[in-house]
Amino acid sequence: MSKVHNFSAGPCILPQEVLKQASEAVINFNNLNLSLLEISHRSKDFIEVMENARNLVRELLNVPDNYEVLFLQGGASLGFLTAAYNFMKIDGSAAYLNTGTWANKALKEAKLLGGVLEVASSKDKNYNYIPKNYQIPGNADYLHITTNNTIFGTQLKKTPISRIPIIADMSSDIFSKKINVSDYDLIYAGAQKNMGPAGTTLYIVKKSALGKTGRTIPSMLDLEVHISKDSMFNTPPVYPIYVSMLTLQWLKNNGGVEWIEGINQQKADLLYNEIDNNPLFKGTAEVDSRSNMNATFVLTNDDLKDEFDSMWQAANISGIKGHRDVGGYRASMYNALPLESVQALVDVMKELAKKHS
Ligand code: PMP
Repeated sequence: MSKVHNFSAGPCILPQEVLKQASEAVINFNNLNLSLLEISHRSKDFIEVMENARNLVRELLNVPDNYEVLFLQGGASLGFLTAAYNFMKIDGSAAYLNTGTWANKALKEAKLLGGVLEVASSKDKNYNYIPKNYQIPGNADYLHITTNNTIFGTQLKKTPISRIPIIADMSSDIFSKKINVSDYDLIYAGAQKNMGPAGTTLYIVKKSALGKTGRTIPSMLDLEVHISKDSMFNTPPVYPIYVSMLTLQWLKNNGGVEWIEGINQQKADLLYNEIDNNPLFKGTAEVDSRSNMNATFVLTNDDLKDEFDSMWQAANISGIKGHRDVGGYRASMYNALPLESVQALVDVMKELAKKHS
């Protein structure tokens, strides 16, 4: 099979060895002569998977002991509501940093429960930058941020300094770089970028921050209920959790988050350097807000679109068509994407420039 350079924005590329192990487990899991898909989630073999997955998260992100790790369902989209239910007090309020589509959707869900203040927004420039110098209200229950804006190709470079608890949607950059978990009361992330396939959502939550809203929380949205049942309140999504476990094991075996952070920086430097130096391309995000995960760019001359598109397709590049809200191109460079794939894209960009110089 010829190699495809997979720049998909999510679900996205996973390590080849993970895909191989994952496919084997569908047929014969742990030499049980049973598929992982046909055993009980209460079996010893699956409980071990769940525990390994949770422990790998702890190890890779240095999660402090007073935090809980959960693998739940509903995607980050349910996380928007879960965050508000568990952290916004009755008659309380929350502060949201509006950095794009997903941040907006999070804000919209929180409005169902109480007052929401948008502390800053980059909507004026189609979300191509991360706002700076905004005031965070000291009386809000929390500040919500989206650390990486998958659609617009922007990323927070620093955690805001905040006196109120911070909740972060890290769906598209978790495990891509070191973080300080204790900066946050809640981190949540859909698995389908750096962690595994779609179907499970990771929550990392400070236990002592829960149970303070005065609300009656529906069981499936209540993080305390999930903690009390060790992430098995209902039947967990066994396969996405298993594949996430394999992906996290791959990350650990190769050197962990510190290792991948270096490689992710190399990949981003390689591509942004080409975008900045090639006269046929222009980045859409402001330079100091650029994401190391999703690079968004356009052609400076739209007449070259068909030619460029056929060149990258011929080079076995897939998934770089931009999101409709931005247009142009988006190259997503998640953990499992090798540096050679970025080089392949850069080579095509150089070739186009050479033809038109
Ligand atoms: N937040 C961010 C930053 C995302 O990129 C996405 C999806 N791509 C979501 C939230 C929504 O996630 P889900 O589809 O898992 O609900």
